[in-house]
Amino acid sequence: MRLSGFAIAPGQVLGKAFVFRRAERRVPFRHIEKADVPRERERLRAAFRAAQAELSDLTARLSHEAGEAHAYLFDAQVLMLQDPLFAGRSLSLIDERLIGAEWALSIVCDELRSLFARASAVIAERSHDLDDVLDRVLTLLGGTKGDLVLPKGEKVVLVCQDLKPSEAAEIDWSLVGALVADHGSPTHHMAILARSRSIPCVLGVRTGTAEVLSESLVFVDGTAGYVDTAPSPETRVDKITEHRRAGLPEGPIRTTDGVEILLRANIEFPSDIETVRESGAMGVGLFRSEYLLSRQGRAPSEDAQLEIYRRLALAVAPHPLTVRTFDLGPEDLSPASPSSPNPALGLRAFRLLSRGGDYFRPQIRALLRAADETAIRILFPFVGGVREADEILALVLEIEGEVRSAGRAFRRPPLGAMIEIPSAALVAGPLGRKFDYLCVGTNDLIQYTLAVDRADPRVGHLYAPFHPAVVRLLGEIVSAARDANVPLSVCGEMAASREGALLLAGLGYRELSMAPTSIRQVRHALASFSLAEVEEAVAMALGSDALSAESFAAALRARRRETPAPV
Ligand code: PEP
Ligand code: MG
Repeated sequence: MRLSGFAIAPGQVLGKAFVFRRAERRVPFRHIEKADVPRERERLRAAFRAAQAELSDLTARLSHEAGEAHAYLFDAQVLMLQDPLFAGRSLSLIDERLIGAEWALSIVCDELRSLFARASAVIAERSHDLDDVLDRVLTLLGGTKGDLVLPKGEKVVLVCQDLKPSEAAEIDWSLVGALVADHGSPTHHMAILARSRSIPCVLGVRTGTAEVLSESLVFVDGTAGYVDTAPSPETRVDKITEHRRAGLPEGPIRTTDGVEILLRANIEFPSDIETVRESGAMGVGLFRSEYLLSRQGRAPSEDAQLEIYRRLALAVAPHPLTVRTFDLGPEDLSPASPSSPNPALGLRAFRLLSRGGDYFRPQIRALLRAADETAIRILFPFVGGVREADEILALVLEIEGEVRSAGRAFRRPPLGAMIEIPSAALVAGPLGRKFDYLCVGTNDLIQYTLAVDRADPRVGHLYAPFHPAVVRLLGEIVSAARDANVPLSVCGEMAASREGALLLAGLGYRELSMAPTSIRQVRHALASFSLAEVEEAVAMALGSDALSAESFAAALRARRRETPAPV
């Protein structure tokens, strides 16, 4: 059986399932005497204090292991514990109704849960935090702890309904080969943690814990977003052979008719660089630098950033390191206070220039200085058109002047624009004449073209990379870039799937950047076809109004004339 869900973190894993079903929460009900009220209230206060202390330990551990950017995971819970209404209402219920602390607290949580349920999807996700706080405080009040204990030994595919933030932060991730959950979406804390640890992950499969048997062999495809509960014999052989192979050879991949396609890696954390080297990627096509920001939205100093960029660039030398400048507003790092009602369309990335360039200056200064001795490339996200392009280039020119007057060595590295807003796609030609290269961000391009929020699970089925409108737009970008004679690449998730990479190659893209864990499968897919075969399938795709990944895959199979080349 195949269970579909959100493709959260790429990679494919064949492994034994460990199904985690949380025991039902038991909240003890007790009537108390009036005389016991002060003691009961103190019990609850002490449990709140202890819970806060535990959360600050967890936060410290998390920022050490997964990076400062993830340390906000427990902010909402700490705020709940500190909220006078939350604690105050629980304490006064003890008084008013003469009930034990556990019961009083669970009444307040029920009230809040029903409030959250009526709010937006983002707020509704906060009810996980509420449950997590409740369980923590109940445990501290003397309840039993329903720990998630993973078997030691071979890594497992963890299948669960969901993981509470504290479970996700406390488990030993070195024992997890892949994560599958019934609930969750791309913005869920499970998604953030799985991506930060490069663990293939599929969320929102709905019936995983019901369908998958513990100890059974399952196949998880975190790139395509599905789980096979009974993998076919071919998949088993394929995966087992793959596991035996060590690192991949470096260099561009060739289609069977000898056309070279360059594969680079997308990274989110400096620690991902090891995986990049093992993947055989020709450098980094996208470093999402916002992960350097602290949860207060503060960037490291110019010199600290210089060190980080220099170190990463040297680690992938002689290939380039493409650093994307900060792609969000400082407020967006705190989920409690997004910068605009709809952050995807709001004041983000270079739109913040309207509030002064201070946010970007140290970053650009550090990049210009790092480029003096390394193969750095700068990539600007969220460019909407020529006017923004001019603003960005003027800022770079101004900052070059500052660096020169400060007597620092620097070099202007290749400057690129991301094509991820439909307006930019439609003026890719003029943008290509201003920048040194263009890089298509299919994740956003798809969401803005189709008006489908990539983070909203309720419209996930409408997020269609193979929508004919998207494919035509992608084709037009290629023609525009050719006319402008500017190098072009893709760094969205579309490049990480077999069919996506083949479609892009057939449309004319010769440089693809993806999560390092996807490189193996993309190499294999590209090396299995001739470009002529792929182009024929793409021609068919462009003529079809009902195009899908499946129909494209079928067209490719029909055109395959050669046996697969070795990877
Ligand atoms: C994209 O939009 O395709 C992209 C690569 O950037 P991000 O996923 O970080 O928005
Ligand atoms: Mg983007």
